[in-house]
Amino acid sequence: MDDRKYTPENEERMIEEAFQDVLNGYLNSNHRKKVEIIERAYRFAKEAHKGIRRRSGEPYILHPIAVAKIASQEIGLGSTSICAALLHDVVEDTDYTVEDIEQHFGKKIAQLVAGLTKISGGIFGDKASAQAENFRKLLLTMSEDIRVVLIKMADRLHNMRTLGSMAPNKQYKIAGETLYIYAPLAHRLGLFAIKTELEDLSFKYEHPVAYQRISDKIKSSEAKRSAVYNDFSAPIKEKLTEMGLRFEAHSRLKSVYSIWRKMETKHIPFEEVYDLYAMRIIFDCDDVSQEKTICWNIYAAITDLYRLHPDRTRDWISNPKANGYQALHLTVMGTDGNWVEVQIRSSRMDEIAEKGFAAHWKYKIGEGDEESELNVWLRTIKDILNDPSPNAIDFLDTLKLNLFSSEIVVFTPKGELLTLPKNSTVLDVAFELHSQIGFHCIAGKVNHRLVPLSHRLQSGDQVEVLTSQSQTPQAEWINFLATAKAKTRLRAALRREQQPVMDRGRKIFEEFLSKQGVPMTNEVLTKVLGVYRLQNREELYVALGSEDLTLDDNCVKAFKKQSPSLLTKIFRRNKVREEFPDPAPAKNKINTKETYILRSDDNGSNFKIADCCCPIPGDDVMGFIDENGDVVVHALTCPRANVLKASYGSRIVATRWAVETGEFLASIRIEGIDRMGILQELIQMISTHLAINIRKLDIEAENEVFHCDLSVLVEDTGVVTDLCNKVKKINGVKRATRTS
Ligand code: MN
Repeated sequence: MDDRKYTPENEERMIEEAFQDVLNGYLNSNHRKKVEIIERAYRFAKEAHKGIRRRSGEPYILHPIAVAKIASQEIGLGSTSICAALLHDVVEDTDYTVEDIEQHFGKKIAQLVAGLTKISGGIFGDKASAQAENFRKLLLTMSEDIRVVLIKMADRLHNMRTLGSMAPNKQYKIAGETLYIYAPLAHRLGLFAIKTELEDLSFKYEHPVAYQRISDKIKSSEAKRSAVYNDFSAPIKEKLTEMGLRFEAHSRLKSVYSIWRKMETKHIPFEEVYDLYAMRIIFDCDDVSQEKTICWNIYAAITDLYRLHPDRTRDWISNPKANGYQALHLTVMGTDGNWVEVQIRSSRMDEIAEKGFAAHWKYKIGEGDEESELNVWLRTIKDILNDPSPNAIDFLDTLKLNLFSSEIVVFTPKGELLTLPKNSTVLDVAFELHSQIGFHCIAGKVNHRLVPLSHRLQSGDQVEVLTSQSQTPQAEWINFLATAKAKTRLRAALRREQQPVMDRGRKIFEEFLSKQGVPMTNEVLTKVLGVYRLQNREELYVALGSEDLTLDDNCVKAFKKQSPSLLTKIFRRNKVREEFPDPAPAKNKINTKETYILRSDDNGSNFKIADCCCPIPGDDVMGFIDENGDVVVHALTCPRANVLKASYGSRIVATRWAVETGEFLASIRIEGIDRMGILQELIQMISTHLAINIRKLDIEAENEVFHCDLSVLVEDTGVVTDLCNKVKKINGVKRATRTS
């Protein structure tokens, strides 16, 4: 078709012919004859895509027709899927909506089209390749109706067949994605023929030279190969005919891609791939219960003629593969001294092997109606996807299905995919997009319906976040957030809101202490917290600042009673600052033999950050137990840490950051050439684009060179690295490095 000219004179005829082809194929299948709705879907799609052409110049409608043909004739799907295939790009590319489709063709077809539209944004979007993993998960989690996946497979196959007319960079991307996602999935679904073709087509675009070289060798060795095959197969055919079997036998060549794989993995030249082809015997048998016996009869006949390889018999009849594959394989010594594989199948097994489970129900016609039969095999495929049985090792090796139950995948209105933990809400999505969006989120639209921000999402939902400038972060949001990121951001925001109250509280506390003539030390603070049964400094300040608490005589008594003299206190304080004296840690009993997990939550942290090196999560760190029994975290690279290790070995504890530890200050130095607007660009990038909180900003400019020292609140080193990389991309910035 590709080299025909698309002139107005012949293209109308060509379109009609292509569609008739689909219809005829459908009428020849065992499906019910629902021609009317298929014709309507075709007219509808044709009208909708009218005047649009593909890159190759052909009218657009030829693509959906081709996809429908693949879905029907190569996968074996029925009218509902054929209609969905014909309409699959209508919502994506034209003004029609899913509601329009529903009105004209009913709920089922509309759902399929909606599913196909959702997938399409993600996969053809710019971030497609980065999201390949997400996409693969999506296909599996969203197997609500597996037909979506199957039609998508047909769509991809046609796109691969016509990939030649795409721009080269797109070819490369699409080919890679096909090999990475679609071919394994086709295999998993038992669509063997499609899997092989997808692999070969991808290979052709990814390694054109190798593809050509192997194809040439296959061609040039063909004569010799067919002579050998004829010698080998003749006695077998004779014997099977004697046995009274109706069968066909042919030599089945390995695909170009699998030949290449074999050459690559075994490091052998083409000539040494001995199993270039297999002999395939397909026999007719009306009685399914007889199939197994016939297979083994043929097996016996062949092993009478040729010497059997002892370890290469595969009985996939007694134990079908997870994807439904059934056959009996054996390997025998051929006439030329090479091993030859022989595959024995009934025509039923053959069709399942080539078309996958879709072919299954074709043989069960006459019992029940189309939909229920269809549902049976759709369920079967779903079971395969859900059941990580040992038979399924081939695909499940790379896919851990059990992980998926804890994750969902949703779409932004732009078709971007987001992977979130199960039970995530609209608010989680808002924070996922941007903290500012999270803070101002008021509600959401899920699949275009208005929902509250606590609405729990399902895989496949399309989520739009609605914001309002008057909205502020609310403490109760914490109850329905599922993502750690959102929780951290929210807590940080709530803490920020409390800052004025805390400042007031701190002032009250400090004034109180100075009136009593007591210096502000950790020891004093610990005692005060003990008196009022408070967890940490922040709680105390908030309580004081909001006037929930007033300091009284109990407090004075507490720290006056056991307090050493002022002089001692000052002495100790200075010493602590410099030398860390050795009285054993008093407060927490920390087992230094175990790794100490650094955590923080609403109630504060179980560690302190050393102010000499200011490490943040992601840094390699160690803990030092100070005189209060607090774990002070130093970077391993900190010179002070080395001194501590040498002098106070018994008070060093191995530490590890908990997954979610809160936010930390990191300092970053940025250098570059000064220009108008660069500062604004920088700040905008950091605070709005990257949603990072700036705590301190010092800028010095001299002779057109500027230095900028930045303190930012981040969660871990990943954020800092990301920040530095992004900042470096700003025109004029020469360096951006973390300084502590
Ligand atoms: Mn398409």
